[in-house]
Amino acid sequence: MRVNGKWYFHCLIPALLLLALCGCGKSAESAEHSFFALDTYITMQATGPDAEAVLMAAEEQMQARERQWSVTNPDSEIYAINHSDGNMVEISLDTAKLIQFALDMSAQTDGALDPTIYPVLTAWGFTTGSYQVPDQDTIDELLSAVDYRNIHLKDSSVTIEDGVQIDLGAVAKGYIGDEVADLLREQGVTSALINLGGNVQTIGTKPDGSLWRIGVRNPFADGNLGVLQVEDMAVVTSGGYERYFTDEAGNTYWHIIDPKTGYPADSGLVSVTVAASEGKRCDALSTALFVMGPEQAADYWRSCGDFEMLLVLADGDIWLTDGLNNTFTLSEKDTNREVTVIRHETK
Ligand code: ADP
Ligand code: MG
Repeated sequence: MRVNGKWYFHCLIPALLLLALCGCGKSAESAEHSFFALDTYITMQATGPDAEAVLMAAEEQMQARERQWSVTNPDSEIYAINHSDGNMVEISLDTAKLIQFALDMSAQTDGALDPTIYPVLTAWGFTTGSYQVPDQDTIDELLSAVDYRNIHLKDSSVTIEDGVQIDLGAVAKGYIGDEVADLLREQGVTSALINLGGNVQTIGTKPDGSLWRIGVRNPFADGNLGVLQVEDMAVVTSGGYERYFTDEAGNTYWHIIDPKTGYPADSGLVSVTVAASEGKRCDALSTALFVMGPEQAADYWRSCGDFEMLLVLADGDIWLTDGLNNTFTLSEKDTNREVTVIRHETK
């Protein structure tokens, strides 16, 4: 073979051009990654250039957020706020954004979501696992400091009033899911499913073009009640079955607390699934609507309408909004359940 100028032109340069056209030599790959963080088992699958490296970066991001927002880690910003004795605390811009979002959602849901519920959760033992039913005096006293308006956020500093403690557990996973989905998209991922223990975030469709199938857990038994088929959406469920204890009399107490009573929300719902483009909105709403109960949740949906929801009532009936009617399929053994479609026009 003769090596001369012509050879370069005819072989090497077209070959280099071809490589460049193929995306700098990177072709789409599929990768999976699972790990434990944010108090839950996290699974991710993604398709895109360098998918494996992108998922490692996503784990890094989530571990960093846990260090920053954990309520128990003495190095976290939330811990610093909770131990500030009423003094102003400087926080990062990211933490300020998360708190602002939680405050906005608290106001929008008329305090059904309230990040200052933390001391009450602790009294019930939900933060430690030492479960107990607190006496009414304890609940009354703790409730007197529960009010999201006791959090004063200004730019990147926050002050909470004495006796107030905050926990962003009801919104943080959704917020982090959005961040990770953005990170994946920026890195060219076109198809992904991120599951943060009940908080599901999807990008695009499955690699074969079909919709993602998201199981909705049966609150009364093992397995799924049905399946939602979605693309490019977040789906978040809050369920009473996730964390609860039972007393000697057989009463069940779960981890979603009604900030008005200080007791586990007794609204007639056993699970709430919310689907929308943003995970943070789904997460905040799934908790808040659980507190509100079916009628109020339906009114809330009619007034906003920028999300879809599936409610499982204590009697086993299902209420779902119009937009999920063709998206949700009941499991075979659950087809006898009564399903009511919530529509915009009055019932
Ligand atoms: P999970 O985080 O268990 O998947 P949720 O998103 O519904 O489920 O959040 C429930 C968590 O939020 C509880 O474990 C508790 O830390 C906190 N929480 C409980 N009730 C409320 C409430 N009314 N407002 C804000 N946070 C709450
Ligand atoms: Mg939530």
